[in-house]
Amino acid sequence: MARFDVVVIGGGPGGYGAALYGASAGLNVALVEARDIGGTCLNRGCIPAKELLQTAEVFRTVAGAGEFGVQVGAPSIDWTQAVKRQGQVVSRLVKGTTGLLGRREVAMYAGFGRLAGAGVVDVMGSDGAGERIEADAVILATGSAPATIPGFDIDGDRICTSDQALFWDPLPRSVAIVGAGVIGAEFASALTDVGVQVLLLEALPKMLGSSDPELSEHLRKELVKRRVDVRLGASVTGHRPAETPGMETIAFTHSGEDLEADVEKVLVAVGRRPYTGGMGFAEAGVAVDARGFIEVDPETLRTSVDGVWALGDCIATPALAHVAYAEAMVAIRAILGEAPAPVNYDGVPWCVYTHPEVAWAGLDEDEARARGYEVEVVKTNYAAIGRAMILGETKGFVKIVADAKTGRMLGVHIVGPWATEQLTEGYLSVNWEATAAELGHLVHAHPTLSEAMGESALRLTGRSIH
Ligand code: NAD
Repeated sequence: MARFDVVVIGGGPGGYGAALYGASAGLNVALVEARDIGGTCLNRGCIPAKELLQTAEVFRTVAGAGEFGVQVGAPSIDWTQAVKRQGQVVSRLVKGTTGLLGRREVAMYAGFGRLAGAGVVDVMGSDGAGERIEADAVILATGSAPATIPGFDIDGDRICTSDQALFWDPLPRSVAIVGAGVIGAEFASALTDVGVQVLLLEALPKMLGSSDPELSEHLRKELVKRRVDVRLGASVTGHRPAETPGMETIAFTHSGEDLEADVEKVLVAVGRRPYTGGMGFAEAGVAVDARGFIEVDPETLRTSVDGVWALGDCIATPALAHVAYAEAMVAIRAILGEAPAPVNYDGVPWCVYTHPEVAWAGLDEDEARARGYEVEVVKTNYAAIGRAMILGETKGFVKIVADAKTGRMLGVHIVGPWATEQLTEGYLSVNWEATAAELGHLVHAHPTLSEAMGESALRLTGRSIH
């Protein structure tokens, strides 16, 4: 029987991250994956979604080229080519990751992993052949799957989740998106830009769940300007085939009215649920909560069973690939007997690749006040930033939430051009517990978008240049 230092079940960012990091630290690692290396992120999530958002970006840029004196005529979409490029990007990354695992000598098991007890994993290949492997430590990184709501069974044709919507070809002419969280918002933004009529239905009074309300309201207004029909506080009541063949009628209530809309597709984007059933976890004594999340000690990611660890979307922490990478390092370092710094879940970067992009890290004003801080807030609009004018992207702002007593930066919130890239500076400042004075007195290159962050930090010192 093969024996390893570590066996990882699940080859998404959490699982392959743990395998690669563990192997780089000299551990003898096995990785069990039933479907595709890269998991949801590479194959059915972050990467294919952002790739399609880039198609929308190119389309918008070309459509607006005349303003810069570049005459190209009205662009049109070849969606088959767009989906083909998406596939090429995905397959290059999957190949690259698989190659890296091979070079680090991670033993790859293609099959369905089942925890048979502490240190024991059974792998069932697609040919039905089984194999038992053993290890000193087992890491469960089995991820998540799209959730749905009662009455909306996913048929993969008319009623879809992101699993199908990412690969629609041809594009539908109209879509109702249920849920305006990150997935719903990103699809709404991309689809409206390439000419799909979008109805966005959200149960809560705001988009983007835990974001600062000012950011999500800015995004909502921009989507409405780009023809998205955004209905907040909407309650979806059902659906049925429409009278027009090939269409579905979706029923919802909004502002006290019972309403219906006929659309080609319904995209259910109401969150993700942990994928933890049928893999022997509970039988092996691993505690799983009522929602299906594996319970862990947040400092070390140990489960209730000695030698078994869990990370990524299958535990109740933010369902983000980069959080899974961070957790992979925590678990491996704990397995190595080191003392890892736990992930600061309050400070993780959130990046939403809509147009405009939305990104934040740390506390918003309300959260900071609720924690007893005396809060000071400064905002800089991109309208005042030279680089933003040059790019033709002057909408949006950077907002810093600071502790008025110490000047410490508690949160950074950005909506606007390249917000997802610009967040890094804010993320580092918040997590290194920088003060606004420390950041404001550092040099921000000119002309860059990052000047909005520098200006905001400087204004928190009570002085400014602009
Ligand atoms: P989400 O939790 O972000 O949003 C789901 C939304 O659906 C919520 O706003 C919720 O109020 C709404 N909703 C739930 N039931 C509803 C109903 N019956 N009618 C109308 N609205 C309803 O979940 P998601 O957008 O599906 O994304 C899942 C996870 O995937 C996220 O938690 C995120 O971590 C991850 N993700 C991240 C990114 C990114 O970081 N850019 C992108 C995509 C997905």
